Amino acid sequence: MYISIEGASREYFFKGRGRTVALEKVNLEIKKGEFICLLGPSGCGKTTLLNLIAGFDRPTTGFVKINGEIAAKPSVNRITIFQNYGLLPWRTVLRNVELGLESKKIDKKKRLQIAEEYIELVGLSAYKKHHPAQLSGGMQQRVALARALAVDPEILLMDEPLGALDAMTRMSMQDEIERLWQEKKKTIIFVTHDIEEAVFLADRIVIMTPSPGKVKSVVEVPLARKRDRTGSDFLKIRDRVFAEFELKPRDMTEYYL
Ligand code: ADP
Ligand code: MG
Repeated sequence: MYISIEGASREYFFKGRGRTVALEKVNLEIKKGEFICLLGPSGCGKTTLLNLIAGFDRPTTGFVKINGEIAAKPSVNRITIFQNYGLLPWRTVLRNVELGLESKKIDKKKRLQIAEEYIELVGLSAYKKHHPAQLSGGMQQRVALARALAVDPEILLMDEPLGALDAMTRMSMQDEIERLWQEKKKTIIFVTHDIEEAVFLADRIVIMTPSPGKVKSVVEVPLARKRDRTGSDFLKIRDRVFAEFELKPRDMTEYYL
């Protein structure tokens, strides 16, 4: 299996104050090229699990393996995109996208060429000389995507990357991420607490619950792409996921109407 998480737990110990089980015995196998969404409320261990896959952190017990090898440290093959974009404010768009390539020791001319290619891919060529503060949130997220993709990693790890965007921008970024995933054939592990976002994007939704952080279930989303957010098949799966959390969207609507 491409990514294999075997009985992975992560506990935090506090001097004299016991411990928190951030993640308990997670078993999960991910195929190359899959789009996985980790879905759950705040505190259920999504970031903890992502950090284990990234190699930023190690499980207290169990294993995380990539291509059969333990993910012991970060790698340019697995790039993380954060909610706050992680752009350097003093650098232009172009220089931000070049950043990841600098650590790959690619020479200057080639670096510039690759950076421009990826800026074009996310539709920001007219803004390459701008600084992050001059861009909208959605545009900044595109820069972060271009920067991550320019490094050409096999795995993209995204930790609530669209959390700071308004609903309309968020939907257009979901479209964009799906397009880039299909075009570049990456394996994506995408953290969200938005059920509809997960149903729109994922091949499989990994549903997590807190205290202790656990995988409750995995829901397959066998819908053709590009998905129709208002289609009856889409809504059926959305309702099934709602039910996993024991939330009832229809009851809620009745209540508010
Ligand atoms: P999520 O990303 O789903 O919101 P996290 O993975 O950040 O959840 O956190 C899961 C649990 O682990 C929470 O109870 C959190 O307080 C705890 N936790 C996360 N990181 C640390 C840390 N560095 N030290 C202590 N506890 C932590
Ligand atoms: Mg988190």
